[in-house]
Amino acid sequence: MTKIFPRLEIPETLAAGPGPGNTDPRVLAAFASAGVADHMQGDVLRGMIECKLMLRDFFGTSNVYTYGVAGTGFSGLDCMFNAIQPGDTVVAFTNGTFSGIDGLTIRMKAATGEELAANSLNPTAASVTIVEVPHGTSVTGEMVDAALAQHKPTWAFMAHWETGSGRINDIQGFSDACEKHRAMGLVDAVSSLGIEDFSIDSFSGVVAWASCPQKGVLCLPLTYAPVSFTDRYIDHVRANGSSCYVNHPILAARHWGIIDGEDVAAPGYHQTHSGYAVAAFHEALRIILEHGLAQKAKDYTFHEKALTDAVLAMGCEVTSNMTSLVVLNLPGMLAGREKELVQGCRAEGFGIWPTLSEPVQVRIGILNQLSKEAIMDIVKRFAEAMNLMQAGVDIDAIMAQLEEYYA
Ligand SMILES: *Cc1c(COP(=O)(O)O)cnc(C)c1O
Repeated sequence: MTKIFPRLEIPETLAAGPGPGNTDPRVLAAFASAGVADHMQGDVLRGMIECKLMLRDFFGTSNVYTYGVAGTGFSGLDCMFNAIQPGDTVVAFTNGTFSGIDGLTIRMKAATGEELAANSLNPTAASVTIVEVPHGTSVTGEMVDAALAQHKPTWAFMAHWETGSGRINDIQGFSDACEKHRAMGLVDAVSSLGIEDFSIDSFSGVVAWASCPQKGVLCLPLTYAPVSFTDRYIDHVRANGSSCYVNHPILAARHWGIIDGEDVAAPGYHQTHSGYAVAAFHEALRIILEHGLAQKAKDYTFHEKALTDAVLAMGCEVTSNMTSLVVLNLPGMLAGREKELVQGCRAEGFGIWPTLSEPVQVRIGILNQLSKEAIMDIVKRFAEAMNLMQAGVDIDAIMAQLEEYYA
C-alpha cells in the first residue's frame, strides 16, 4: 500500500545564518505568480536575456560569458571547475569549509583515472597543491605569490569570502600574483557577490568567477548561480574541452543567448529552464540593482558593526571579518556548548548556524536583515538563548547600547 503523507507545511523562520538569507517577498511573489510557460516561450527567453544584461552590471564586467547556472552555488562552481582537465596543474588555497569542498572538486577534476579510482570520493591528485590556511585567518597576497612562484600552475583557486570561517581573502593580492606568475585565477565569489561593492573586471589575473543564488543575490536556492568567464578562459575551454554537457561553460551559455562569443537575439535550447526560477532571479537582480551595490555594501558594514558590538558586549569573541556574517566563540563558561546553543535557537525558528568544520564556533548572519529592527531582534534572540544557558547577559544594557548606536 502506498502511504500518502499529509500536505507538507514548512514554517516561517528567521534565516540568520551564512545563507540562504530571508528571501524578499517580491522574489517569492515573482516565483509564485509566473504563469505556466515552457523554456522556449518568448517572455521566459527575454527574461533570461535581461538577467544576463543585469548580471553584467552586477558583476561589473564586459565578459560576454556572464549568465546563470541552474542550481545552487556549487552548480556554478562546478561549471567553472569544468575547465580543469585530468592532470592539469592547480594551486588551491583553502581556509574553511567551502574552499575545502572546492579543493575536493578540484582534486576530483584534476585527478587522473588511476588517482580517482584509488580513492574515488576523496582523491589526491599529484598535479594539485592544496595550500591549507588555518581556519580563522585570511589568505594573503604573499601566500599566493609564494605558492605560485614555487609551483607555476595553470590554474590557481581561492574563495573571495570564506563563509565557513567568515574570512575575507585578499582578492587583489590573488589577482596580482596570478598575473605575475601567468596562472589563470578561479574565484569562488559565493559569499561576496551582492555584499561587497566590487567590479570583477578590475581583477585581471582572475579568469572565472562563480557565485550563488541565495546569499548576497537573495534569490531562492535552486534558481541560478551567477558565473562570469573571460575570453581567455573560454578560449582555453574551447581549445581543451570539458568532459560534461549540462554545466559546460560554453554550451550552458546558449540558452542565455550567448553563442560563439556573441550575444544573439534567439537563444538555443540547452536544458529545460524554469520560468518560475527565471522570474524570481530577474526580480532579485532588479531589487539589488535598485538598492545599488555601493549602498548595499555600506548598509552591511553598518549593521554588521551593530551586531558585532552587541555580541562582544555579551562576552563573545569575534574571529570573522565578513560584513554579512559574524563568526564567534562563546564566553569561556559556555565553551564546548556551541552546538547545544545553536540547536536551541534553531528549534525556536531562529536559524543561526555552527561552523561545519573544526573548530566549532557560532555563525550569525544578517543577509537581508539590514534594519535596526531586524538587528535588534537577532541580538535579543541570541542574548535570550545565552541566558537560557545561564550566561547572565544584561539584555537591557545591550539593547540600550544598540539604541544608542542607531540614534
Ligand atoms: C554557501 C557557499 C557555497 C555553497 O553554495 P550552495 O549554494 O550551498 O551550493 C560555496 N562556497 C561558499 C564560499 C559558500 O559560502
